[in-house]
Amino acid sequence: MRVAVVGAGPAGIYAAESLATDHDVEVDVFDTLPVPCGLVRYGVAPDHFSIRSVRDKLVETLEHSNVRFFGNVTVGTDISADELTSMYDAVIYTYGASQDRVLGIEGEDSDSCFAATEFVKWYTGHPDAQDFSDKLARAQHVVVIGLGNVAVDVARVLLKSPIKMTETDMPEHVLQALRDSTVRRVHVVGRRGPQHATFTTKELKELGELAGVSVHLQASDLPSSDAEASEGNRVIERNLKVMREWTQRDQVDSPKIIDFMFYSTPQEYSETDSELIVEHMTIRPDGKIEPSGRIERIPADLVIRSVGYKGAHLPGVAFDSARSVIPSVDGKIIGMERSYVAGWIKRGPSGIIGTNKKDAVATVATLVSDLSNRPSSAQPPDYVVSILKDRGVDYVDVSGWKRIDAAERELGSSGGKERTTIHDRHAMLNLAKGP
Ligand SMILES: Cc1cc2nc3c(=O)[nH]c(=O)nc-3n(C[C@H](O)[C@H](O)[C@H](O)COP(=O)(O)OP(=O)(O)OC[C@H]3O[C@@H](n4cnc5c(N)ncnc54)[C@H](O)[C@@H]3O)c2cc1C
Repeated sequence: MRVAVVGAGPAGIYAAESLATDHDVEVDVFDTLPVPCGLVRYGVAPDHFSIRSVRDKLVETLEHSNVRFFGNVTVGTDISADELTSMYDAVIYTYGASQDRVLGIEGEDSDSCFAATEFVKWYTGHPDAQDFSDKLARAQHVVVIGLGNVAVDVARVLLKSPIKMTETDMPEHVLQALRDSTVRRVHVVGRRGPQHATFTTKELKELGELAGVSVHLQASDLPSSDAEASEGNRVIERNLKVMREWTQRDQVDSPKIIDFMFYSTPQEYSETDSELIVEHMTIRPDGKIEPSGRIERIPADLVIRSVGYKGAHLPGVAFDSARSVIPSVDGKIIGMERSYVAGWIKRGPSGIIGTNKKDAVATVATLVSDLSNRPSSAQPPDYVVSILKDRGVDYVDVSGWKRIDAAERELGSSGGKERTTIHDRHAMLNLAKGP
């Protein structure tokens, strides 16, 4: 049996691993980027070294004799979903959910208001990222909208000592921009309360440990009883404890400040006045949150919204536009033959990296149970190669990826670190070709 996997993020790689090792299936993994690992490379914060090191384990799968990597191949443009279905016994879609959600407020489309997805792409060295160096060199006050880990990552990257960031694999132009940054104050704004935030405690706590940074929040925003508000959820209880400790700290004059503003809904952004207008919310006795009519203007040279990721429709593949996922039952796509789904594009943007493993393995189990007795009708391995070559697609195979990897390690070692990300697509493709 021969299977195509669309997306070399964790879900795609875990699916390929299970197919290749547990079921002896041949797998071709396609990714629009020249390099594998998806959001583990272009999402997970560069200063979270141990989580980023998951990449080393993931890429081992691409060296399995049953697995081939086709980087720099966009399914839907370079090759269609229908073509994959006709060439392989089955296709697994694992192309993630990396579109950003919008706030729907006036002023959101200004240059100074952008999505955390874009900012994260930039600091992780994504080849298609826009450059934020100029913006950071002019801004003092930044508002980050959202109460999840991505908002926390963004706030930390903005205010953490650039010397500490030098140890990471961030590209040099990003490190330079962080050194030149004039950002001094970050407001983290969310519509709901501390007990509704989806932070993980480790990430939240880290904010309070940043050198030269004070964290502020209104003690009155904390619930009267942590145990009651957390309803048995240990993460929430621990988060509330961290935040309560912050409110009890002696106030010191720090050069940089993070202000949490809970129960605040963004209403309008004015780039000209550099301010975000928010409306405070109140909690009704039944626990519902409603607008209070009280307006506050927050200084905001930049506004970064981090209000969620969502999946996009790939032509030829079923899509549930209300939920922004591919609809499926046990990983089998509804209404499509021999087509399966795993990862964020199946579940939506939730869970940790490991969640995608369980998910991918479950999808593979469905695929194998559906198709293992069916004689293979797949095209031979050379077929897709000749199609891509005929179309002039400059694909990167595993040897090409290893050359990019070696160049990144070499670049990093010259600066005394493990790796420096190469962010230019053209440079990556040239490196992949070899000498
Ligand atoms: C900012 C951020 C920080 C995170 N930090 C952590 C963390 O610290 N710890 C943790 O456990 N989890 C973290 N996560 C979550 C974790 O990254 C996800 O659970 C995981 O990456 C989802 O895997 P996936 O394979 O479904 O999607 P992705 O990782 O997004 O992989 C999808 C892949 O598909 C490719 N693709 C897209 N479209 C096409 C196409 N048309 N053709 C071919 N290829 C395509 C993409 O290039 C990508 O490589 C973070 C997520 C984000 C956004």
